[in-house]
Order: sequence, then structure tokens, then C-alpha cells
Amino acid sequence: MTEIIDGNAVASEIRDDLTDAIETLAEAGSRPGLATVLMGDDPASQTYVNMKQRDCEEVGIESHHVDVDGDADPEVLYDAIADLNDDPEIHGYIVQAPVPDHVDYREVIRRVDPAKDVDGFHPENVGRLVAGDARFRPCTPHGVQKLLESADIDLEGKDVTIVGRSDIVGKPLANLLIQKADDGNATVTVCHSRTEDLATKTRNADIVVAAAGAPELVDGSMIGDGAVVIDVGVNRVSADTEKGYELVGDVEFESAKAKASAITPVPGGVGPMTRAMLLYNTVKAAGLQEDVAVDL
Ligand code: NDP
Repeated sequence: MTEIIDGNAVASEIRDDLTDAIETLAEAGSRPGLATVLMGDDPASQTYVNMKQRDCEEVGIESHHVDVDGDADPEVLYDAIADLNDDPEIHGYIVQAPVPDHVDYREVIRRVDPAKDVDGFHPENVGRLVAGDARFRPCTPHGVQKLLESADIDLEGKDVTIVGRSDIVGKPLANLLIQKADDGNATVTVCHSRTEDLATKTRNADIVVAAAGAPELVDGSMIGDGAVVIDVGVNRVSADTEKGYELVGDVEFESAKAKASAITPVPGGVGPMTRAMLLYNTVKAAGLQEDVAVDL
């Protein structure tokens, strides 16, 4: 029987643990605050921001939101960032990507106070992660680690193939999984669009993480018997549904499930974990800034 790793259930447990940490902060007179910054009116980004605000309310994190006109000069966004850096009620914030084309996202990230960078994208935080001294683990890779832990998958000595080398998923995940740590110690292969013979690299892996943004790229023929499959991908493909589309992962679920010992579904796998880990980083940030020991 293939185990279906339930991201909603694991995320719910993490939110419960956060409630205790938030209580500890409250006893010390502090309430964690997370802000979202949205430049422009991209509907998908708006939906993500709304979800993040709702998540905050559910666990008792104060949520704030800043809208910046999509046509505004980058300086307007930089000013908003400077205000958030100075605001003691904001312990963490995220600038929702993508930003409009006339704004340099890297420059945006460089302006975020690393202590409030709950996405974990600031160069200082990336460096700390690579050095094995992470302040904030980026939400999606951290969520993948928590899912593996929840399914009792010991990474030590395992061969992991990650499909995708983005700065937000593939690269940080690879760095985390090779760390000398209980949730690391794996041997990692990172694949991308120039990789030759992807199928051999996935088939030889004990654990396959698909994060390519390519619908159903990885099928059962690319999975070794008994491997663990983590599907990060979220892709809209046109379908005969009310909305005219459906969401599929980067893994062809049924054929991969037939080979795997455990697999995450889409939706209901990595997605809820990414959201939960943003809350986790916010509570961690609040603990660090308020000098309150929170048990995370
Ligand atoms: P990016 O587009 O930034 O990166 C995709 C990576 O996959 C690139 O390294 C690219 O290679 C590689 N790639 C693309 N096509 C192929 C292919 N056919 N064969 C091998 N490698 C390929 O995507 P993200 O990392 O931002 O996101 C990946 C997916 O995960 C998306 O579907 C996204 O929606 C989803 N996602 C889901 C999250 C969640 O919470 N569930 C959170 C974040 C992302 P190259 O570098 O050569 O271009």
C-alpha cells in the first residue's frame, strides 16, 4: 500500500504547535505580526496574500497588508519596505512575487531587514542556510522536510533527486538535505532543464522531489520501486471543469503512486506546508526580536 502523505494534516499539527508558542509570546506581552506587501493587482498574488492573512488570523498572528500601485516608481515600494523594517509591530513580512517588470526583485529582497525576512530569501539568510546556520528556512523546502519527517523517512545516506534548481525551492532544499543534521545527511542530485537523461536520475533515487513547474513531467516509469515522491508543482491545466482548469502537480500521480512507497498529492501535499512554515518563521522571528524563548 502506498502511503499518501497528507500535507493538510501535518500543516494542522504545525499550526497547533505554533499556538503554544504564540501563547508564550503573549505571556511576555508580545503578539507576532506578519505583513504582506503586494505591488500591482495580479489576481493569483491577491489570492495568495488573502490566504496568508487568513492563516495568520487562525493562529493568532496579527496580519498587516500594504498595497503598492503596480505602476508606481520602485522607490515607493522601497519606502514601504523601509517603514516595515522600522515598525516594531512587524516581526516578519513578505513581498509577494512576482513584482512588476520595472522593479528589480533582487534589489527588493536586499532591502528587507534579514531579521524580518520570513521568506528566507535575503542573501544573508541564504548564506547562513548554506553555512548550516539557518535563521529562517525557506517555507517550501522546510515544508518538504517536515513532510518527510512526518512520514518517518530517514534521510541519512539516501539518494535524493530534486527536479528544479530555483532559488526558492530546488537550491535551498538541496542545501538543507545535504546538511550534517538529523533532517539532512542525504546525497542530493539537482536536475534542471539542461539535465541529460532525467529519467535515470529520478529512477535511481530513494526520494524524488519534483519542483519544475512542468505538469506531470515525472511519471511512474521514472520512479524506482518503493521510492518516496514529493510533488511541489502546482500547475493550472485546462480541463472540462466549472473554472475551465484543474490543478496538477509535476508528477503523474496515478502511475507514480503505483511505484512509490509514499507520495504527496496535489493539492493537499506541499502547498499547505508552505503556508504553515511561513507562520512558523513569523513566530520564530517574533521570538528572536522580542528575546522570548519559543519552543519550535
Ligand atoms: P521555477 O520556474 O523558478 O524553476 C523551475 C525549475 O525546474 C528550473 O530550475 C528549471 O530548469 C526546471 N525545469 C523546468 N522544466 C524542466 C524539465 N522539463 N526538466 C527538468 N527540469 C525542468 O519554478 P519554482 O521553483 O518557483 O516552482 C516550481 C513548481 O513548484 C511550480 O509549479 C510552482 O508553482 C510550484 N511551487 C509550489 C509551491 C507550493 O507551496 N506547493 C511553492 C513554490 C512553488 P532551468 O533552471 O534550467 O530553467
